[in-house]
Amino acid sequence: MSQFKNLINGEWVDGANVSRNINPSDIADVVGEYAQADAAQARTAVQAARQAFKTWSLSGPQQRFDLLDRAGTAILARKEELGRLLAREEGKTLPEAIGEAGRAGQIFKFFAGEALRLGGETVPSVRPGLSVEMTREPVGVIGMITPWNFPIAIPAWKIAPALAYGNTVVIKPADLVPGSTWALVDILVEAGLPAGVLNLVMGRGSVIGDALVGAPDVDAISFTGSVATGRSIGAKCFAAGQKVQLEMGGKNPMVVIDDADLNLAVDACLNGAFFSTGQRCTASSRLIVTAGIHDKFVATLGEKMRALRVGHALGADTQIGPVVDAKQLKQDLDYIGIAREEGGTVLGGEELKRDTEGFFLAPALVTGTSNTMRINREEVFGPVASVIRVKDYDEALATANDTEFGLSTGICTTSLKYATHFRRHAQAGMVMVNAATAGVDYHVPFGGRKGSSYGPREQGSYAREFYTTVKTAYVNAG
Ligand code: NAP
Repeated sequence: MSQFKNLINGEWVDGANVSRNINPSDIADVVGEYAQADAAQARTAVQAARQAFKTWSLSGPQQRFDLLDRAGTAILARKEELGRLLAREEGKTLPEAIGEAGRAGQIFKFFAGEALRLGGETVPSVRPGLSVEMTREPVGVIGMITPWNFPIAIPAWKIAPALAYGNTVVIKPADLVPGSTWALVDILVEAGLPAGVLNLVMGRGSVIGDALVGAPDVDAISFTGSVATGRSIGAKCFAAGQKVQLEMGGKNPMVVIDDADLNLAVDACLNGAFFSTGQRCTASSRLIVTAGIHDKFVATLGEKMRALRVGHALGADTQIGPVVDAKQLKQDLDYIGIAREEGGTVLGGEELKRDTEGFFLAPALVTGTSNTMRINREEVFGPVASVIRVKDYDEALATANDTEFGLSTGICTTSLKYATHFRRHAQAGMVMVNAATAGVDYHVPFGGRKGSSYGPREQGSYAREFYTTVKTAYVNAG
């Protein structure tokens, strides 16, 4: 069986243990054995990154462009192979997985260009003879902690800007799916990554997290994952004076009002709620529908949802892959049970058997819910959406905003008035009009408000807010 090691200071090294990466479509299929680092190895990786920062932070933009551009080219050339690995370890369908790998390649290409575009600003001083220059410098050593649901795109959208702006990195991917991140790091090594600039430590967050979070030689932490983990990491970072960026959960509303194009609204909700097995932080999990269109909408969406083909992620006909593991499947089934107990009516949501043993779940639509029910307050993170009937647009907007989260939100309407009002008044980092709440571009900022996010946005040129620090220089030329 293939064995995959940690990358510390340019060397591939064994860990203290290994973990088996299991295919959720077929638990007899072991993707590989992945080394698990211990805390001491993570601390060694931090020291390697600290050492490498001395030279990488002073490297020229051409060197950083070349590395990222070569990596982007390699990722795009290998996106089918990377997508296959991703589908095997995480369970999204092969086209979705190839799409994610391609996006990782595009992210590297974008940030290669960003290395060249990092400019500054010069302004006259209010004092005669002086001028003022504002420049951006790298922050230092960045610790990265990533979740299992986008195992190549999320590491890519953290690593690429960090390196582009001259930082060095220690990354800890999700223990459940380390394979795609390992492959990404391997591509960077092949592309000419200098020793220590990027270090990979795989293993449990509870074991190696403290070597990064609050550690004196780590200048900043970029975290994506659940609210509970994010908040505890954020508190430790604050206590240690570490810069921190947290991207966490969502309970994203999609508003459908009477004048919506029914087919467009149904397709946007089908995609937003159930594709990628609903395992997206931007999934449309609360469908808020006005009374005049409610029954038609629910009937059409329910019919289309029941026709979705659930199966092996690599199956040619599969539209919905498996849930990522037994623990997440239990969580999904528990929430479906809770929704029923709360008085919701559940269509679908049965555990399914397929030719291979995996974690297959029929998508579930819960109707007759109110916004106070747990199914509408808490993130399920599975192919489960609930419908809330409201009387009009005003109630829809108020319901959409009545949540502790604020990542992505959407509205389906043919009215410019409602679309414009919603864009302005929706309390979320991202607003979609007549488009699914999930599915975003790689060259623009990504992130949320309220309980979903903390700190500067990720992606696009806005990523520099986190990965650089501003210096103001006063120059007396006289
Ligand atoms: P999670 O359980 O919070 O884990 C995220 C990462 O944190 C994993 O690498 C995990 O390691 C690590 N971790 C756990 N405990 C830690 C500790 N004490 N110290 C340091 N690291 C620790 O989240 P998940 O289940 O992987 O991901 C699902 C969540 O991510 C959902 O809530 C989803 O909404 C959110 N998400 C948000 C975005 C966004 O951009 N807003 C994007 C994708 C996903 P282990 O692997 O060892 O547990």
